Amino acid sequence: MKCHKLHLLEKCSLSRNFRKTFSSHQQTQIKTRSEISSKPYTIVEGAEIEGFKVTEIQNVPDFNCKLVKLSHIATRAQYAHIDRSDANNVFAIAFRTTPFDSTGIPHILEHITLMGSKKYPCRDPFFKMLNRSLATYLNASTAPDFTVYPFATQNDVDYYNLMSVYLDAVFKPKLRENDFKLEGWRLEHEDVDNPESSIIFKGVVFNEMKGVFSENQNIFLENIINNLLPSHTYAVNSGGDPLHIPRLTYEKLVDFQRSHYHPSNSRIYSYGNFNLINNLKFVNDNYLKEFAYCEAYWKNTIVPPESRWSEPRRKHIYGKYDPLATDSNKQSTLAVSYLCEDIKNVYDLFELKVLTQLLTDGPNAPFYKNLVEPNIGSGYSPGTGFDTQTRDTIFTIGLQGLNEKDFKKVESIIYTTFDECIANGFDETNIENILHGAELNVKHQGSDFGINLLYSLAPLWNHDGNIGEILKITEHIRQFRKNINNNPFYLNIMLEKYFKNNNHRLILTMSPDKDYEDLTRRKENEILQETLSGMDIKEIANVYETGLQLRNILETDEDISCLPTLKISDISQNISHPNINFTKVLDVPLQICTLSTNNVTYFRSLLDVSHLSDEVKTLLPLFVQIVSQMGTRSYDYRIFDQMILRKTLGLNIGLQITDDIWEMNTFKETISLGSLCLDQNINGMFELWKILLNEVSLTDLNRFAMLVRNIAGDVVNGVADSGHHFAMLYASSYVSAAAYQREQFGGLTFIQKMKEIANTQDLEPILKHMHKIADDTLNKKRMQCALNVSAEQSKIVTNSIHEFMSSIRGSNEGEIITRFSSHKNVGTNKFHFVLPFAVNYVAKSIQCVPYTNSDFVIVRVLCKLLTAKYLLPFIRERYGAYGAGVVISSCGTIQFYSYRDPNSTTTASLFDEAGAWLAKNDFTESDIDEAKLGVFREVDVPISPSDQGMRIFLNGITNDIFDEHRRRILNVNREHLLEVASNYLNENNASATVIIGPENKQTESWEKTFNVNS
Ligand SMILES: [Zn+2]
Repeated sequence: MKCHKLHLLEKCSLSRNFRKTFSSHQQTQIKTRSEISSKPYTIVEGAEIEGFKVTEIQNVPDFNCKLVKLSHIATRAQYAHIDRSDANNVFAIAFRTTPFDSTGIPHILEHITLMGSKKYPCRDPFFKMLNRSLATYLNASTAPDFTVYPFATQNDVDYYNLMSVYLDAVFKPKLRENDFKLEGWRLEHEDVDNPESSIIFKGVVFNEMKGVFSENQNIFLENIINNLLPSHTYAVNSGGDPLHIPRLTYEKLVDFQRSHYHPSNSRIYSYGNFNLINNLKFVNDNYLKEFAYCEAYWKNTIVPPESRWSEPRRKHIYGKYDPLATDSNKQSTLAVSYLCEDIKNVYDLFELKVLTQLLTDGPNAPFYKNLVEPNIGSGYSPGTGFDTQTRDTIFTIGLQGLNEKDFKKVESIIYTTFDECIANGFDETNIENILHGAELNVKHQGSDFGINLLYSLAPLWNHDGNIGEILKITEHIRQFRKNINNNPFYLNIMLEKYFKNNNHRLILTMSPDKDYEDLTRRKENEILQETLSGMDIKEIANVYETGLQLRNILETDEDISCLPTLKISDISQNISHPNINFTKVLDVPLQICTLSTNNVTYFRSLLDVSHLSDEVKTLLPLFVQIVSQMGTRSYDYRIFDQMILRKTLGLNIGLQITDDIWEMNTFKETISLGSLCLDQNINGMFELWKILLNEVSLTDLNRFAMLVRNIAGDVVNGVADSGHHFAMLYASSYVSAAAYQREQFGGLTFIQKMKEIANTQDLEPILKHMHKIADDTLNKKRMQCALNVSAEQSKIVTNSIHEFMSSIRGSNEGEIITRFSSHKNVGTNKFHFVLPFAVNYVAKSIQCVPYTNSDFVIVRVLCKLLTAKYLLPFIRERYGAYGAGVVISSCGTIQFYSYRDPNSTTTASLFDEAGAWLAKNDFTESDIDEAKLGVFREVDVPISPSDQGMRIFLNGITNDIFDEHRRRILNVNREHLLEVASNYLNENNASATVIIGPENKQTESWEKTFNVNS
């Protein structure tokens, strides 16, 4: 699903909260704790409860839960509750929103809905709640045809606080015109104070969508939907095209809200162990009972199935030229997209999912063999795979990193591959492996299960499909096995129906245009001039006045005491810790964490790499990506892949830098291994690791060259979407030795290195290095392991691991080495990476202290305070960046960042002045409490069974150290904050500032180190 705004914010864990609170923590909590506890309750089908009627109750054995479907009697609002013994409770409300132009109405409405409501009239209660809550998830997103407002929390008081804020926002929003201007779009002088400066477009969504369209992948994906489903709402962009957004008027937005945000067009979801009846009562008493049923609301938003084409269609589009691309002559993309089954046919979708995975996933898939391996492009195109977010589902197959002259060839390979599969069918092993993966996925459940479930149900529910069907995975697997057993040509017939004989297909091609950015700028300017030419002198003068007024609104302190809040006293003093047993097997340290894992065994291991030379270390990121894909002495890579999928979901290999919690610039460098399996497959899983570690075969040069090209093609994707991450890494690498190593392993330096390798004519020497790395690292000389298992499995696991350890080369030579590396750590460094983006990413890092230092916690609280009260109000609100914040990282550096930022050096100066802002001591006690809550939100995040015990395994943070860290948060006070601010946020501390973004006159004196054209 395409999600806008807050989804991204959550991912970057940005938060926004600003201006002073005058009141102390006034409580407007809805109920007391005892009233809303998770006491048991019983309901039956047909019962009428709190204005709702129970329409269906479905037991869901696959996920150990119960689905309760209800309908609101008066308004016919639909309600689905998932009753499950999970403390991370979820609530969400969604509306079907089907726009017919690309002005971004539903997206801008999503933003403004959260900008104040009847009961919570202050500006932006949503972001303010971030620091008054312990939400584990707080978000809103706009899909192509619906808008959803979900949150999750483990705290019952918090749950009702947030429910109240969300429901008030969607049913009684203020929808102020000024918020439309700030969040949507407006005309404003570039310099608000100077009426002589030029008038430009501004607005949060306007800038956000400019950022989205900076990424070729996003341009391509949007065009698939727009052109394959052209007759209704999918023809337009629900997020908003920056060239169309300025056509949206405030009146149209209000109309859209009135015609879509009504209970009769709503779907309400709750999940977890809180009492459903209390939820229903709250929703009905406070909101739904005021409304009556109105058919128009849901009828007018129905999305009809797309009428089928008799002929395929073609479309060519232009994208950005990418200076980061490995081969500048291979920057084109081709994909064929097929319209498939209606989203309501859930079982058919399951079959299609299996079939399309067979076609594309892994080295045994026919498209992988025919399209990816022959070196025509650099890997699958964006969108490749089966997509179930629209009324009619879509399968896309294509290649990126192409030369345009290969378009015809690629298209014809796609068709002949389908023919081949129809003629030959599929290997039974591969079918079984995909079904095994589906079974294992049912068992393996993450900590955000309730939220993930919401997102998988929402698209179907939005079209009034039967969501209970999605939850019947085991039944679907059984049915599918039966179907293919009864008819040996079952899949062949599907291939003919959905692909070979399907004329509803789009051949979409994209080639780079060096003038793309210029052209977009020119078009934006034309629209600007057109808008301005329709205005008289008075209206122009008004632009200046409005600009000043809006700034005044943003700068005015307001009373947010209307908002509910948790108190510090609502935070549990003590938290429980998992049951871990520390032991050794053949001298290798092993921790076994015993807990309820739903019959899944989780294995992890770390292997020391500190002894490798710096030069060889630069090849490690490549090594870990290819090592399990090259085959072994006894099995070629295709067979080995089949063996892996028979027992696990995959052998995951990565790099792990572990910061020392006691000393700066001190860390461990390791290769990490990870896998999971059904309990009964534990020996099979260890057998796979044994084969890989002992017998990996790094000799097939062609295979290696292909993997290198694909990796190089992949790594450049996403720089524009997470530029702040790369900027932060690079800046930190100047003030921390650990961060330096991280940057080498996964930052811009790594991307540059991959590009270099991909352009190397003779890869033989590099492959030899790979072989040497395997020899030097894949042994048990310095190794540590962890297992997360159920109590039953823990009794028998020792034998398995002992046998596994005995089979691994080498003998234990001691613990994984903790390395200190002196680092320059001096002066102020400034770098500008010039890349053709429409926006900037700015980061600054300052050396600080390690995790166990008593200042660390204070700085952590300080960072929350700065983000909420200083960075977001200025950088996001006033200057229009999409996000901004500051964190203290595990390597002990303070890291400022901005995200999709129209400014560069202005933001850098604001980072520099953070210390001075704090020194003014202009913040309240409740600001400090909110900052602490923000820290607890991170510290007490729910942990899935697979990740329990990882704090100690990966970081050496014992339960005592962790409990002490939590206690210290509570003790932070104003004096502490002012003291650390003056100690660390000053010019004497080593720092580095990095801008990633377009050419810029202000950075002439900055160092430009990264030559993207080399
Ligand atoms: Zn947004």
